[in-house]
Amino acid sequence: MSDLASTASSIYSQALGVIEQVEPRIAAATRAELRDQRASLKLIASENYASLPVLMTMGTWLSDKYAEGTIGHRFYAGCQNVDTVEAVAAEHARELFGAEYAYAQPHSGIDANLVAYWSILAHRVENPTLERLGAKTVNDLSEEDWEALRATFNAQRVMGMALDAGGHLTHGFRHNISGKMFRQLSYGTHPETGLIDYDKLRADAREFKPLILVAGYSAYPRRVNFAKMRDIADEVGATLFVDMAHFAGLVAGKVFTGEENPIPYADVVATTTHKSLRGPRGGLVLATAEYAPSVDRGCPMVLGGPLGHVMAAKAVALAEARQPAFQAYAQAVADNAKTLAEGLRKRGVDLVTGGTDNHLVLLDVGSFGLTGRQAESALLDAGIVTNRNSVPRDPNGAWYTSGVRIGTPALTSRGFGAAEFDAVAELITGVLRATTPVATAAGTPGKAKYLLADGIAERTRAAAAELLDANPLYPGLEL
Ligand code: PLP
Repeated sequence: MSDLASTASSIYSQALGVIEQVEPRIAAATRAELRDQRASLKLIASENYASLPVLMTMGTWLSDKYAEGTIGHRFYAGCQNVDTVEAVAAEHARELFGAEYAYAQPHSGIDANLVAYWSILAHRVENPTLERLGAKTVNDLSEEDWEALRATFNAQRVMGMALDAGGHLTHGFRHNISGKMFRQLSYGTHPETGLIDYDKLRADAREFKPLILVAGYSAYPRRVNFAKMRDIADEVGATLFVDMAHFAGLVAGKVFTGEENPIPYADVVATTTHKSLRGPRGGLVLATAEYAPSVDRGCPMVLGGPLGHVMAAKAVALAEARQPAFQAYAQAVADNAKTLAEGLRKRGVDLVTGGTDNHLVLLDVGSFGLTGRQAESALLDAGIVTNRNSVPRDPNGAWYTSGVRIGTPALTSRGFGAAEFDAVAELITGVLRATTPVATAAGTPGKAKYLLADGIAERTRAAAAELLDANPLYPGLEL
């Protein structure tokens, strides 16, 4: 057992023993979660396994400190240590991504996107209005001017990727605050290639004239050309905002370089820290020096007190991502996704866009006669954890869907390589072939209806166990 594993074993065993005395159900659920994560093929494209140092960093008294404000300028006394933590996290983020400015406070990806949107509104709408009216802050505005300014926020336009093309809820979807805040027009993918149609995007942007052009995705299995996005944004006077929540690890690991690296092209970039970046659950905003002062107003604009313990864990994860080993990891994530896609394709599975060149693969399970929901449930029965997802122009809607999204970041962290991912493709295909849909009326609540051929779940679990046991999660950690 490595030193780290034996230290972690004793720390976690003792910590869970303490928790057990207060609320045994939480200690039991925490132990069970480790057992479940160890025993299943985690293919959810947005999940990963953070390192033990990252996980441990989250369990400290930094959680107990209030530190609203910015580094060196807090609304509470005694924030010197949180100042250090936030400054180190921001420094690592700037260095890792080559960004002019980094803001480590957002608690999640959605928070990071809210900071991004409101800082762009502050920079592009609020500040020029204050300047025009000769006011220093909004407090100097008359009631009338303030009401007029407030009304302009809501009149702004944003263009983002459509949800069923792979965009995220926060890119203008009506059920999300971004869709309620802005007038929104979405862009999709080409009906034949499944790729972003930059010509159509440009033509639509010329007509719609968005204040903000959002690039980035949750379920698009291809790379984005950010130089083209910048060009379109410049032509229509839009701010380019990139949400790299999903692929930040591939940017950090220098897999996405040149025109595929958003940092040199975007005004503002937001990300999560827990997906391909393999850090704690949290968010981060990067910006040019021009947008930095507005982003710095994230608290109190949309955030309260920052989570000192999570910012500390972000700093540790970002330090890890600056090591050469992380570049090898990121390259393996992308290589493994190609192997997985090719393994599925050659076994007859339909893939949106025919393959992948990032970390995720989107299966269209319609040819198996299944909905995404049925496929997701059948795979879960066999120990394969995925999530259903819409495919472009999905006939089954956003709840049942026709797709299953899978990704390689988590199992690559466990050490899976090409042979293992080809074996995973075989297991997935086997389960899909062995699943028979049972029809239900659309909109029927309850469990997804399907039948799994006898023995397939057990056989798949046994084959998966061999792969998993050979690539243990947190090896040596015993609870
Ligand atoms: N942005 C994108 C592109 C995402 O895929 C997600 C999460 O799925 C988010 C933002 C939101 O992240 P969080 O769940 O941390 O709020």
